[in-house]
Amino acid sequence: MLHSLRARLWLSFALLVLGVLCITSVGLLVYLARNPAPVRLLYLRLEIYTTIFTQSDRLPPAKNPDKLLTALQRVDSNFNIRFSVLASTGSLVADSRPDQGAIPLPTQAALDNPPRTPQEFRDSRGRLWIYAARRMPDGSVLVASSPRVRLTLAQILQDEGYLIPMAQAGLAALAIALLLAIWLSGWISAPLRTMAQAAHAMAVGKFTPLKVQGPSEVQEVSRAFNEMAQRVQASQQSQRDFIANVSHDLKTPLTSIQGFSQAILDGTANQPEDLKKAAQIIHSEAERMNRMVLELLEIARLDARIIDFEHAPLDLSILIDQVAAQFAPQASQKEISIRTNLPLSVKITGDKDRLAQVFTNLVDNALKFSPPGSEIQINVEVKNQYVEVQVCDRGPGIPDADLERIFDRFYQVEKSRTTSASQGSRRGVGLGLAISSEIVKAHNGVIRAYNQTAPLNAGLPSPQGSVFVVKLPLPAPPSAAQNKKRKTNE
Ligand code: ADP
Repeated sequence: MLHSLRARLWLSFALLVLGVLCITSVGLLVYLARNPAPVRLLYLRLEIYTTIFTQSDRLPPAKNPDKLLTALQRVDSNFNIRFSVLASTGSLVADSRPDQGAIPLPTQAALDNPPRTPQEFRDSRGRLWIYAARRMPDGSVLVASSPRVRLTLAQILQDEGYLIPMAQAGLAALAIALLLAIWLSGWISAPLRTMAQAAHAMAVGKFTPLKVQGPSEVQEVSRAFNEMAQRVQASQQSQRDFIANVSHDLKTPLTSIQGFSQAILDGTANQPEDLKKAAQIIHSEAERMNRMVLELLEIARLDARIIDFEHAPLDLSILIDQVAAQFAPQASQKEISIRTNLPLSVKITGDKDRLAQVFTNLVDNALKFSPPGSEIQINVEVKNQYVEVQVCDRGPGIPDADLERIFDRFYQVEKSRTTSASQGSRRGVGLGLAISSEIVKAHNGVIRAYNQTAPLNAGLPSPQGSVFVVKLPLPAPPSAAQNKKRKTNE
């Protein structure tokens, strides 16, 4: 029970309340033990009666000692205060208890310099007295004294009557602390409980975003939880898509292989041309499956970051030139020209083979989609801190809705468009751009695609091919210090 936030909060509040109560009680008791109510009252009475008897005109004048004595004796009998009047010479003029002998007080000090407030004094027998002294108009001094009472703690508390209100205040504080603990623990734990429920729901595949509430720290956790949940969902979705795509893309060629091999086995394909066609299809589908498996392995290695990217200096102009040259025979076969606009040299740092793979994929796609007689342009432009490579073709372009997704794994624009028999074993599986994107990212670069548009006669823009842009960072220019070092070496 003590493990709950509410119980702990209440316990700490209760301890705090009790601690404060204890400290204030001890302080109060110390004060009361030193100044119990009867003593405080005695101080007051001594002060009041000495003032009254020395300053009031209506009281018996000192000239009439008998009347004064009667008045003093009346007060003495009521309040147990002994009054003595001392002449300036020190001799006793009047005493409310003449039978009790000389007063046990510092009479000389009181005569010389009467204290302004009542004082304490210990007599020769060790008894504690409280006395007040005031000079009378005729020069004599009125001394009022009374022994200081000794009280037990119980008497003090009884006199003061503090015990019950203090206990009541303590109980009220504990009740308030309990309410506060309930409210505070609810405020903190309610969103945590919702979070726990959401986590359980997530475990069974259901999740609705959490409402961000509670203390700011808990709000922060809720926000982080929502973000994490979204990522987990996205990753689960992509895993599901991945498995669905892999199984679908493997099933298609496998069915094809199965069908044609069956035709050979059961003699349905018995003519030499039929046999050749079946063998060709089996070969091309097997080749496609092989490529797909290789690409999948590559994606998996990129994901696991077990591919070591080389970071060596390379000339991008030379690399692009080599890629373009590599596609020249294929392009001329399709009557497509590849034009390159390259600076003389663009020095960057990166993995030559991997970057060649990116541009090979882009030019390969451009060739796949370019109509015969068209031109593919490869432009390389050095900008401020990066170099931009554009691969432009005059093909059908990419539908706007697909532009965002073509870098996703297995994403293919209108599968039928890319699975035409004409492409044979070269048919892709929608992994080329995903791999390219990972490679560019590993080089701290960016890859994106857009459509070229040109106005038609009707005035509406129509796609005029696609442009794939790869931005790669240029190496930082050497610092002044490095320049200086180089010059001194030279
Ligand atoms: P694949 O290996 O199947 O070619 P990619 O990842 O390279 O897959 O391309 C993904 C999709 O993008 C393909 O379905 C293709 O239709 C589309 N695509 C890629 N390049 C072009 C282009 N130059 N013109 C039109 N569509 C393209």
